[in-house]
Amino acid sequence: MRFLVIGGAGYIGSHFVREATRQGHECTVYDNLERGFRESLDPKLPFIKADLLDAKTLESTLEKGRFDAIYHFAAFALVGESVSQPELYYENNVEGVRVLMEAMRKLKSQAALIFSSSCAVFGTPQNLPISEEDPKKPQSPYGKSKLIDEWMIEDYCHAHGIRGMALRYFNACGADKDGGIGEAHDPETHLIPNVIKAALAKQTVTIFGDDFNTPDGTCVRDYIHVTDLADAHIKAATYLCAQKGPLYDAIHLGTGNGYSNLEILKAAEKVMGIKIDHKIGPRRAGDPAGLYADNRKAKKILGFVTRYSDLETILKTALAWHQEAPHGYNRE
Ligand code: UDP
Repeated sequence: MRFLVIGGAGYIGSHFVREATRQGHECTVYDNLERGFRESLDPKLPFIKADLLDAKTLESTLEKGRFDAIYHFAAFALVGESVSQPELYYENNVEGVRVLMEAMRKLKSQAALIFSSSCAVFGTPQNLPISEEDPKKPQSPYGKSKLIDEWMIEDYCHAHGIRGMALRYFNACGADKDGGIGEAHDPETHLIPNVIKAALAKQTVTIFGDDFNTPDGTCVRDYIHVTDLADAHIKAATYLCAQKGPLYDAIHLGTGNGYSNLEILKAAEKVMGIKIDHKIGPRRAGDPAGLYADNRKAKKILGFVTRYSDLETILKTALAWHQEAPHGYNRE
C-alpha cells in the first residue's frame, strides 16, 4: 500500500515508517521537523518538509500521491506543556487535524485516515481495564485536543464518506530491534527512558508518588512496544481499505497488562544487571493511579497481536538505543 505519514519523523511515526517499509509498503513522510528528526528516516524515502497548517502544500501532496492511507502522527504530546501553553495544542493538534480533514473533503480523497489518539481522552478512568465506550473526561488540554480531534474526524467521516479510525495508545515505549532510532524527547518526561538514562549516568531517578491506591502505591501503566503499535497501524489500513465508507471507529492499543513504576524499575535493574538508585518524590500533577487497556476490540477487528511488548524486550531495545545515542539524534 501507499502511505502518507504526517509526523513520520517523530518517535512513533519513525518506527511506523521503519516497520511499514519492512513489510513492503511505500511511505512518503510529511513533517515540519519541529519536533521530529530527519536522521530517524532512511534518506532515500520521499520526504516533504512542510507544516500541516500549510494547506496548499498538503493539498498538492494529497493530489499527487494517490495514497491508500493517510496517517496523522503529528501532534504535540506533553501534558505539562499543554497546561501552561494550551494555545500550542489547539493550534497544532486541533487546527492541524481540521486542515487535514478539509483537504480530504475538498479533494474527495479516497484514502483511509488513521489518527493517533491517546488514553488521555479518559482522564481518570471510571473502569479498569478501559474500554472504548467508557466515559471520557480529559484532564489536560492535550487530552482535550485529542478528544476534539476524534469528534471532528468522526463527523467528517460520516458527512463526507471518509473511512477513519482513531487508535488510542497506552504507554508507547521501546525502540526498533534493528537500532538507529528510538525515543528522543527534549525534555524527556517518560518513565522508561528516564530510568535507563539515570542508570547509564549513575544518577538517581525520581518516582513520582508512592501513595496511590495500587498494590505497591506507585502508578500502574500499560506499556506497549512501539513496533507493536506500528504493526497495528498497518493492520488498521488493511482493515479500512477493505471496507466501504463512511466509517469511523476508535480502538485501544495496549497489552491489557499493568505494571507499576516500581515494577518497571525492578525490571530495568534485572535487564541491566545493576541496582538503579531511586527516590520517591511528590506526585506529578494529573497522574491517574492506574491506566490499562481493554484490547479485545483491537484483537477482534484488527487481529492485533504483540510480538515485542514483554518488559524484557521493551527494556532491552530501549537500552540499546540509549547506549547507541546517549544524546538522542544530536550525536557529537
Ligand atoms: N514517572 C516517574 N518518574 C519519571 C517519569 C515518569 O515516576 O521520571 C511516572 C509517572 O508519574 C507515571 C508513570 O511514571 O506514574 C508513567 O509516566 P509516563 O510519563 O512515562 O507516561 P504517562 O502514563 O504519563 O503517559
